[in-house]
Parts: sequence; structure tokens; C-alpha cells
Amino acid sequence: MATVEYDEVTKVFEEGGEPVVAVEDLNIAVEAEEFLVLVGPSGCGKSTTLRLLAGLETVTDGEVRIGSEVVNDQKPKDRDIAMVFQNYALYPHKTVEENMSFGLEMTTSLSDEEIHGRVHDAAEMLGIEELLDRQPKALSGGQKQRVALGRAIVREPEVFLMDEPLSNLDAKLRTDMRTELQELHERLGVATVYVTHDQTEAMTMGDRIAVLNDGELQQLGTPLECYHRPANRFVAGFIGSPSMNFLSLSFDATAGVGSTGGIDYHFTDEQAERIRTSGAGAVTLGIRPEDIELAEAEGPDTVRAAVRVVEPMGKESYLYLDVSGTEVTASVPGDYGIDVGDQLRLRFPRDRVHAFDAE
Ligand code: ADP
Repeated sequence: MATVEYDEVTKVFEEGGEPVVAVEDLNIAVEAEEFLVLVGPSGCGKSTTLRLLAGLETVTDGEVRIGSEVVNDQKPKDRDIAMVFQNYALYPHKTVEENMSFGLEMTTSLSDEEIHGRVHDAAEMLGIEELLDRQPKALSGGQKQRVALGRAIVREPEVFLMDEPLSNLDAKLRTDMRTELQELHERLGVATVYVTHDQTEAMTMGDRIAVLNDGELQQLGTPLECYHRPANRFVAGFIGSPSMNFLSLSFDATAGVGSTGGIDYHFTDEQAERIRTSGAGAVTLGIRPEDIELAEAEGPDTVRAAVRVVEPMGKESYLYLDVSGTEVTASVPGDYGIDVGDQLRLRFPRDRVHAFDAE
């Protein structure tokens, strides 16, 4: 059963009399207990997508459903959701306990005893029991974030919404909180929609990720699906670090060969067939840095490269290379004793190469 559904949802803002399409024809179904991450670059429509679910924006077209109920016209307080914001949004003059209980007192008919019980259970789960009497100004960023989470948990909502909740934390704490949030999710089993611009966060936290660009859904899949089988060049370039390399090649349909100064790359029959059917005389070859191999001899799947920079990282080395005028990054295990200025032969294994429509 889907807990949240975006059904052909479009949101158009007006800015100085001009329409701004923030989200276009969006279809996503979030399953019960699923952790779904909305990810994409700044301005791609992530926050708007979340705010439409929260009721903080109204839908221009389409339907948003929570459970089986259409919520398009429901006020935020009538939706069975709880939202955690990037800036925590705590009341500065209330204690932690009051911050956590306030929403419940306002919106539910729970007894004081029940509210007290929920707040203390959540505080225990988050390890902030000893902070309950403090005010937000006496808390660290990480502690504030826990209080914000606690305030969401006590509401026992059907869906958690999180808008870049970790982006104000330092790098170490962010990594720790990633794990904690996942554990919390496991424990609570509540559908969660989580917004981030950080692909690492998306890859490590999401059961599935929805990659957005320019208000449009590019791919909806597990992190590994998006990594290994990117739907298009945008997803291929956005997911994975360091980023996938791209080479623009002209394409000889008869031979199935992609070429640019000095490179003749032979695609597999299957790839060649797909490029042919797209009808283009050109193709973009994509290969991830970790999939590039050093080759002993030239072959139909090798290219020549000049070494520009070597970055030894211990377990692996990053090579920044010039391949026929295009900068290519390769990561190779260990330290091969490769030096700046070396001429290399690289293999782009054909089962790892992606062929995208030329731009
Ligand atoms: P993201 O969260 O991915 O950074 P947003 O959802 O905030 O993206 O914004 C998507 C697009 O909608 C952007 O072009 C942004 O400028 C526009 N937008 C967002 N909110 C408004 C608004 N209230 N008025 C006009 N344009 C808006």
C-alpha cells in the first residue's frame, strides 16, 4: 500500500507576472515504511515537492494523497504528517520539554500524562533526557536537531517530512546523524520523505531515491539502480563521486564505432543498436572513474591518455587524465608508480560503459 502519492502533480509559481514551473507532472508513490529521498541540484523543485505534501504550498494541477485520502485542500495541521526543518524551528523561550509537547497540546486531545509519556519516550530514544529542562540557546546544533526530531516523533505521524535536516551540522556529526536517522527510521517504521541536495546522503540513506532536475523526475529507483543503470546523462553525472566521465563521440552506425581525435571506441552490438535507433550521428560515452582499467595493449575498448595530475589516496590513486582533449578522472587501486606526463593506455570495459544520447 502506498502511503504518499503524487499523481501528475504540477506546481506553477508566479514571479513578476511570469510563470515559474517548480514541479511538472510528478508521479511518485511512497510505500509504507519506506525512506524516500528527493535529491537534485538547487532549484530543481525538491522543497516545493515536500511543501506540497506538507500543505505549505497548494497544488496547481494533479493530486497529492496521504493514505488513500486526497489532501490537496487540507490544511497542514489536518494532515497526518510531522516535518523536520533545516533550521530546527524551535521556540527559543520554551524548554526542550515544552518544545516537544507544544504541538501535541495544541492539536490533540491527549491527557497531560500521555503527552508526558510520549515526550519522555522520544527523549530517551534520542538520548536527550537530561536536556529536557534546557532552552534551545543552551544546546549544540546536534542537540537542537534531536529536539526537532523529538518534536516530530511524539506526534506519531503517518509520514515524516524532512527538509535538509542535517545541512547545518558539521561533517562528522552529519555522518553520525545519518546513521542515527536510519536506525530511528528502522525502529519507527514510518514512511519518510527526505530532501537533500547531497547525493552521498541520498545514496546512503534512501530505500529509493527520486532524482529531480528542472522540476521533472529523472529517475525513481534504489540507490544502486540509479548508480548502475542511470536513466539518462543527468542522473549519471549527478549520482556518484567522483562524477562519471563523459566523452562526446561521433558515431559510425555501420561499424558501431564512436570516434574523436585518435579514439575509435567499439561499442557492443546492443549499445550500437540502441544508439542507431536514437537516429543520432553522435553519442556520449560515460564511464565511472572506478571502472577504468590500465590496459597492456591496444584493443577495441582502449583509449590513450596523458597523465596530468596524480593524487595518491592510500588505498587508491586518482588520476586526472587528458583523453583526446577531454579531462577524464580514473581511480586505480593502490599506487602504480604513475607519474605526471606518463602516456597510458586505458581500458573502458564494454560492460561498464554507458551510451547516452549526444547533447
Ligand atoms: P530546491 O528545493 O530543489 O532548491 P525549490 O523547490 O525551492 O527548489 O524551487 C524550485 C523552483 O521554484 C525554483 O526555480 C524556485 O526559484 C521556484 N520557487 C520556489 N518557491 C517559489 C515562490 N514562492 N515563488 C516563486 N518561485 C518559487
